[in-house]
Amino acid sequence: MKVALYVRVSTLEQAEEGYSIGEQKDKLKKYCEIKDWKITRVYSDPGFSGSNLNRPSMQQLIKDAGTGLYDAVLVYKLDRLSRSQKDTLHLIEDIFQKNNIHFISLSENFDTSTAFGKAMIGILSVFAQLEREQIKERMMMGKAGRAKAGKIMAWSNIPFGYVKDNDTYKIDPLRANIVKKIYNMYLAGDSVTRIFNRLNEEGHVGKDIEWSYRTVRQVLSNASYTGVVTYHGKIYPGKHQPIIDENTFDEVQRQLKIRQIEAEKKFYAHPFQSKYMLSGLLKCGYCGATLVINKSHRKNKPPRWRYNCPNTLSRKHVRTYAHKDIDCPFKFIYRDEIEELVTSEVKKLALDPQSITEDYEQHDEEQIDVEAIEKELASIKRKQNKLVDLYLIADTLNIDELNNRSTKLKEQQRALEAKLKPVQKDDNKIIDFQKNLAKAKDIERLDYDKQKFIINQLVSSIDVTNENVTINWNF
Ligand SMILES: [Zn+2]
Repeated sequence: MKVALYVRVSTLEQAEEGYSIGEQKDKLKKYCEIKDWKITRVYSDPGFSGSNLNRPSMQQLIKDAGTGLYDAVLVYKLDRLSRSQKDTLHLIEDIFQKNNIHFISLSENFDTSTAFGKAMIGILSVFAQLEREQIKERMMMGKAGRAKAGKIMAWSNIPFGYVKDNDTYKIDPLRANIVKKIYNMYLAGDSVTRIFNRLNEEGHVGKDIEWSYRTVRQVLSNASYTGVVTYHGKIYPGKHQPIIDENTFDEVQRQLKIRQIEAEKKFYAHPFQSKYMLSGLLKCGYCGATLVINKSHRKNKPPRWRYNCPNTLSRKHVRTYAHKDIDCPFKFIYRDEIEELVTSEVKKLALDPQSITEDYEQHDEEQIDVEAIEKELASIKRKQNKLVDLYLIADTLNIDELNNRSTKLKEQQRALEAKLKPVQKDDNKIIDFQKNLAKAKDIERLDYDKQKFIINQLVSSIDVTNENVTINWNF
């Protein structure tokens, strides 16, 4: 028997296992070897969707059907031929059967030359179409679909000022007025701190818990108030009524940016209460106390700044405060030395930011293997596809079993996805950290205040003993 192979993979499917052109070909070739069939032509449509027949090799396959070039068409899976019921039936009935060509699909194990295969054609096509419609439906039900349809996200928090109303929000008049008040106060020049203090003084009306800097800041930057739905940074027109008009919202965003820049300028001009880069960060490695800075008095030499542990009793103090029961063994560390050491460690890290991720994984006690979970999720997805396949071979799995098993798989999937969540949160922290770290590549060339700023962003504390310095990174 002369066999034509037809292989296809859409761009989207290319990443999925078992669907690559190469794999399809390998499986089909092996099958032909076993059956002792001769492959006369391979028709290949890489990067084409199965939703219609507008594919170059598919058109060639149709053209060649009447020429006697092949007696059978072999595909890996029915949906490789087409994802449309109409097209599948058209190909099998009008093209293949009319020219006495058998059609064999490997995965579903059916062959139009057998009676069973003939009966299966219709059934399989129906299911192929059903599957496609389900995919479409699932996509529309999906997050992006919901956002595009202007619907609110099921998992998202309802912005203050709205109440849930089926798949959208409805304005809550009392709270909406408070939202407007927040925007008006901010545009009138009030700071975020002033706004939340004022709202709390008034008894945080419409809210169970007190307002905070964060919650007021969120209200000021939530685009939902203009009647849109945002998803992955993209904005879609929403179904809900706006509380804030676009111009007001845009002006607030502009102000937020301006005031942030001003705050940063101020910060650089008068950074921290403390004068020194590491004040507040340095901790005694023996007793945990925050190290204090003082001047060392040396004979005939200029004094030198150094950090001491407050629980270390100097010789002079031993006499005075001998009753104190802590006598920490920490000696002292010179300010310039420790500053230089920390700065160079920060630079080292800035030049090799990759190492921090490794560090992070090592330090994480409740270590979550993201890769393993993602692999497991992919395997569950494959199992789900496999279930549909089993169901398609009618007698292998009935609809109840299909539902039963796919419910279980979905439960597993949800549990795994939940595991991934806290990691993603920490990933954001790492991303923030790495952004700050990027500023530290030339840290030695920055002025002292900028160095201080960057180091305070990057470092949460530094443990110092007489022998060791351990930097605890801020992520
Ligand atoms: Zn100490």
